[in-house]
Amino acid sequence: MDFRRIFSDKEYAPRRDLAIILLLYLVILAASLAFDSFDHVIDFVEQHEDWEIDEALTGLLLLPIALGIFAARRLSEAKKELKLRLLAEKQAHEMALHDPLTGLPNRRKANMVIEAALKQADSAPVTLLAIDLNRFKPVNDLYGHQAGDQLLLAVGERLKAAVADDGLISRIGGDEFCAMLSGIPAGDQLIRKVETLSEVFETPFLLGDLSVVVSASIGVVTTDVPATPLDSLFSQADAAMYRCKGTGRNEIAFFEAGMEQAAIQRAKIETDLRTAIVEGEIRPFFQPLVNLYDGEILGFEALARWHMADGTMRMPDDFITIAEETGLISDLFFVILKAAAIEAKNWPVGLHFAVNLSPVQFGDEWLVERILQTLVDVGVAPGRLEIEITESALVSDLDVARNVIVSLKNQGINISLDDFGTGYSSLRHLSELPFDKLKIDRSFVHGIETNSASQSIVRAVTALAHNLGLQVTAEGIETYDNAKSVMDSGCDIGQGFLYGRPSRGGQLALPDGSRLETGGESQDDSVKPHDEKAA
Ligand code: C2E
Ligand code: CA
Ligand code: CA
Repeated sequence: MDFRRIFSDKEYAPRRDLAIILLLYLVILAASLAFDSFDHVIDFVEQHEDWEIDEALTGLLLLPIALGIFAARRLSEAKKELKLRLLAEKQAHEMALHDPLTGLPNRRKANMVIEAALKQADSAPVTLLAIDLNRFKPVNDLYGHQAGDQLLLAVGERLKAAVADDGLISRIGGDEFCAMLSGIPAGDQLIRKVETLSEVFETPFLLGDLSVVVSASIGVVTTDVPATPLDSLFSQADAAMYRCKGTGRNEIAFFEAGMEQAAIQRAKIETDLRTAIVEGEIRPFFQPLVNLYDGEILGFEALARWHMADGTMRMPDDFITIAEETGLISDLFFVILKAAAIEAKNWPVGLHFAVNLSPVQFGDEWLVERILQTLVDVGVAPGRLEIEITESALVSDLDVARNVIVSLKNQGINISLDDFGTGYSSLRHLSELPFDKLKIDRSFVHGIETNSASQSIVRAVTALAHNLGLQVTAEGIETYDNAKSVMDSGCDIGQGFLYGRPSRGGQLALPDGSRLETGGESQDDSVKPHDEKAA
């Protein structure tokens, strides 16, 4: 027993006091015995009978009993206080290791658990998953932080249930989660488990009246080497995660050598994008939209291209999602809109120009005014503009979307529902929002002539759209067979490499191989020919 601790520690204070009292009592008793003190006291009391000392002494004899009771109560109270204090300390400690919003372990706790698991990695392999939500910022911006919080909470709950007893799920930052799986060797079983985690994003999240769909990019790395440093495990999982970031879809990537380089690249894109927009490095290319039956050009879609200072070109898949997540998409949209309008001004008046709008932009309450102002500034009639709204992963607030679409339509602007078939509640969108056109995603058109499932979908969707008074564009037409099939299915308009690849303004290709010299944006010879894939 450590006596110093007994004398210094508060925990022992009541017992220490009791011991001192007992000790004092023994000392007094010993002294009384030694000096026969009680007999002296009796004599003294008898000599001074009128002082009533005997009565006072009787009372005094009862006092220790009362004090004893008092002490016992104090002791039990002190014990209770101590228990509470220890509990509070434990809670504070737990709080420091958990995320207050979701109650999940935080990064500190995850580090501790993963480090412990790594020690046994040779017998129980450790898998780390970096799980990053796609387009979470728009949810926050569109529906408010409370909805964002609710969403994170629900995501955490689903992920936790999916991990179950195989490991740990933790929230390590804003919309970043991390899962650790232990004891599942690399192979089919692990792939299955990782898919289970990815599948939690396939069902929309209900936030009050809102139904929100978010997808996640998941990077996975597995090790059976106990000496693997925690840092490199995290950066490898992150690198794999960034590999799927570009598409904005629900995707999984397993770490491979070389991915870390790509992750650094993505971080660089994020920082470079802002200046690229300001410096005019993002400019549109134009791809023709044609009447399927006579090949007549009806207009062009403006597709963003990032012309790098070194002469190379970056494609939208590399930067649109980043633009959406960083809030730069609105600036990017207006840069493209203005450039496309300037270009279209030089085209024959009958040709329209189409610009892609990200659903993230529905959050901008001045959107419609700003679009109109841009058209007025350039001097192009609103009737020539077509806005393409992608059936994005975000099942948007229909009321907000309807307001924007109706206001745009009231100004004479046409609206197309883009990438039809890749979204979630397509038919609902179609009947509830007043679109003018529907663009069937190229995944349905690719190989359609030999795919009867695609054929029947395209035919059914086209019939439905026609019933609702919409025109139908088939995207991604690369061959005559593709074209014939979509015509057989009843589509009206075609877009694809067969009719023309996206190309620089000022000199647009016509289907017959001749060129539409529009005298638009001057050709920039420092920009190498675009890297569109060969047909
Ligand atoms: P999208 O709106 O569906 O645009 C059509 C995409 O299909 C373009 O890819 C185009 O190059 C490609 N494409 C056209 N014909 C064919 C074909 O026959 N075969 C194949 N395989 N592909 C074909 P791109 O330019 O890489 O754009 C990708 C996506 O990026 C666009 O898909 C659009 O969703 C988005 N995007 C592009 N520019 C912008 C923009 O300014 N704003 C926003 N918000 N999104 C943009
Ligand atoms: Ca489009
Ligand atoms: Ca499309």
